[in-house]
Amino acid sequence: MPDRTTQSWAELNVASPDDLAGLFQALAAELAADVAAAGEEAALRAVRDRWLGRKSGRLARIRDQWLAAAPREWKPAVGQLYNALARQAESEFARAQARFAAVQAQAMIVEDAVDTTLPGRAQPAGPAHPVLRILDRITDVFVRLGYSVATGPEIETAYYNFEALNIPADHPARDDQDTIYLAGAGEELLLRTHTSPVQIRAMQAQEPPLRIVAPGRVYRHDAPDASHSPMFHQIEGLAVDRDLTLGDLKGTLDHFARELFGAAATTRFRPSYFPFTEPSAEMDVSCILCHGAGCRACKQTGWIEILGCGMIHPALYRAVGYDAARWSGFAFGMGVERVAMLYYGVDDLQRFYSGDLRFLEQFAT
Ligand SMILES: [Zn+2]
Repeated sequence: MPDRTTQSWAELNVASPDDLAGLFQALAAELAADVAAAGEEAALRAVRDRWLGRKSGRLARIRDQWLAAAPREWKPAVGQLYNALARQAESEFARAQARFAAVQAQAMIVEDAVDTTLPGRAQPAGPAHPVLRILDRITDVFVRLGYSVATGPEIETAYYNFEALNIPADHPARDDQDTIYLAGAGEELLLRTHTSPVQIRAMQAQEPPLRIVAPGRVYRHDAPDASHSPMFHQIEGLAVDRDLTLGDLKGTLDHFARELFGAAATTRFRPSYFPFTEPSAEMDVSCILCHGAGCRACKQTGWIEILGCGMIHPALYRAVGYDAARWSGFAFGMGVERVAMLYYGVDDLQRFYSGDLRFLEQFAT
């Protein structure tokens, strides 16, 4: 059907009122068919533009071309028919629009409906990360012995991280290779390389007797690999009292090894060196996999190195104002990831940080 609204008044050849009525009837039918054919909202908008578009819509053309050009005697009739067609168009579009809105609302009701007969969805409980589980276990062993938990800042001063711990400026641990310094700070600030600064802060805050464990994150300038990470966890212990001896230290850590690895676990102590303890030792625990027979995990030695320890160096007492003649004490510290790797038989440290739930969920129980 040609679009007659593109024709001029003269081209319409209107000769009688019937001609005019017939013309508008055909337009009304066309309009109704157009609206009915619009199956979705976008199509309806296109139909609406075709008919009601402000500049080139059909009704605009009827008004601008026919009504304007019709001779005076025709104008009232054309005006009336134009108004009727315009009213029809408005109501047809309003009805169609309401129909689409109702369909959409119905669809939303169906979509959002809650089927109360469905069984509930179980929410999986998030278990603690294996490294934190081990950290908690280690902490618990010492809390049961009467130790309290102490924490300190992860951003430290060089004084607390090094000097107060008897680590002089030329010590290799102060090399940039190991320590992450924070640029731009007035004071020399760094990310603590060990939890040992907490020992100093705890001793400054409290007179002996004192028994604390300090669990927390530490930072080193290390590239991540199977046994290194720029961030890892340590737990540090400190006991200061009258007459504490190396025997007390060994007894305490022996007990710890049995609590963590089972009653059959045995320990051995090897002389070592740390700036903040004198004498210093490293403690090995009997291999938890082969129980001393020798295997790959223990490099066939039957022993696995687990922590560093020693009697507190008098320089630390001086730094915190304790009377070194009156008090004695011991300290120990270990890498928690290392213990977790042994405990769970994990051979790559990076797996703990992978965020891979399939891996992490193995340790949920
Ligand atoms: Zn072994």
